[in-house]
Amino acid sequence: MKISAIKGFADILPGEIETWQFVEEKARAVFALYNFSEVRIPIVEKTELFSRSLGETTDIVEKEMYTFADQDGKGALLTLRPEGTAGVVRAYVEAELYQTEPVRKLFYLGPMFRRERPQKGRLRQFYQIGAEALGRGDPFVDAEVLLLLRDFFSLVGLDGVILELNSLGCVQCRPRYRKDLLAFLKEREDKLCPNCRRRMERNPLRVLDCKEEACREATRGAPSILDYLCQDCRDHFETVQQLLRDSGVDYKLNPRMVRGLDYYCRTTFEWTSDRLGSQNAVAAGGRYDGLVEDLGGPPTPGIGFAMGVERLVLLLGAKESRQAPRPDLYVACVGSAARSWVIPAVHKLRQKGISVEMDGEERSLKSQMRRADKLKAQFVLIMGDEEIKTGKGILRHMDTKEQLEVSLRGLEEALLARKVSH
Ligand SMILES: [Zn+2]
Ligand SMILES: [Zn+2]
Repeated sequence: MKISAIKGFADILPGEIETWQFVEEKARAVFALYNFSEVRIPIVEKTELFSRSLGETTDIVEKEMYTFADQDGKGALLTLRPEGTAGVVRAYVEAELYQTEPVRKLFYLGPMFRRERPQKGRLRQFYQIGAEALGRGDPFVDAEVLLLLRDFFSLVGLDGVILELNSLGCVQCRPRYRKDLLAFLKEREDKLCPNCRRRMERNPLRVLDCKEEACREATRGAPSILDYLCQDCRDHFETVQQLLRDSGVDYKLNPRMVRGLDYYCRTTFEWTSDRLGSQNAVAAGGRYDGLVEDLGGPPTPGIGFAMGVERLVLLLGAKESRQAPRPDLYVACVGSAARSWVIPAVHKLRQKGISVEMDGEERSLKSQMRRADKLKAQFVLIMGDEEIKTGKGILRHMDTKEQLEVSLRGLEEALLARKVSH
């Protein structure tokens, strides 16, 4: 019986995994340069963590979460994490990380889960690389986070990504904008999609984010949040932009970008690629100055982002340089003496950091050589009765076809001297 994976859940197999590893390695490198530490948070959390932090009227909480009752008899509701920020903030508060050092720069890598319509680059189990800078409300850290992403895209060789920037204001200035926007929307209520009509009162900003053409059309002349910012928000946003300009980072303002989640304030951003179609965000995030307090911690500002690894991998494509590592040596064995020799001999080589492949079945020499070729082994050693008897073998370099007689005792030195690749 053949059992397939669940729709929207995918395997990442050799051939593709090399690009994933490449992306993760570069992300770790750039996080180290910006002094971020890794944090690993659980995949399952209490449902209320997400409904509380993301907002009850968001798409994620309304219809996309994988939620189930725990089998503990009490029926507590648990959810597979749909994003990473809530969990990281929960951990920061729970461990009271702010007691020893309020400023924490944390990053995470791992799977997230949302019951969305599966499509290219968007799965139900999808992977994110994200970061949260907690404890700093200044515009410099906003700029740092954006520069980190710019550097990451350069490091992986991803071009054609564009930074879109907005400010969502703060508790001082947003209510006035919200009021005017709601009045504007009410005049056009009949033109909005049912979804927008339903949540307009509770979250008018989300209407600007709606993908329905009718809603985009109806809100074309909507007031801009940027005209409503208070002096503090204006200064903050101006500084972020100045720092980006001083660092040579291009951006464009997008006052319609409200992000899907309730916790955002002030600086919000998306890095988009025109090569991704309508799901064009590669990385997105923003400031969430009230979230730590909402989740039971002391007043602590924060800013963060997440990037979708599937989309990055899609954009980067497969490159020869990211193919599976080739073995340093392939040992082809003919006859029982060679077969008894090979396992302990190869074991010693592997202990010295030399990667070795071999065959356990009694295949013909020809088919063993074919396999060595297919694996792109750097060297091949052919072992038969004669080689065991004399203690010498022929090491063949598969690229140059150079042949070299080596003593079996000196195999390790011979390989290391020829700079086996790692
Ligand atoms: Zn403000
Ligand atoms: Zn709509």
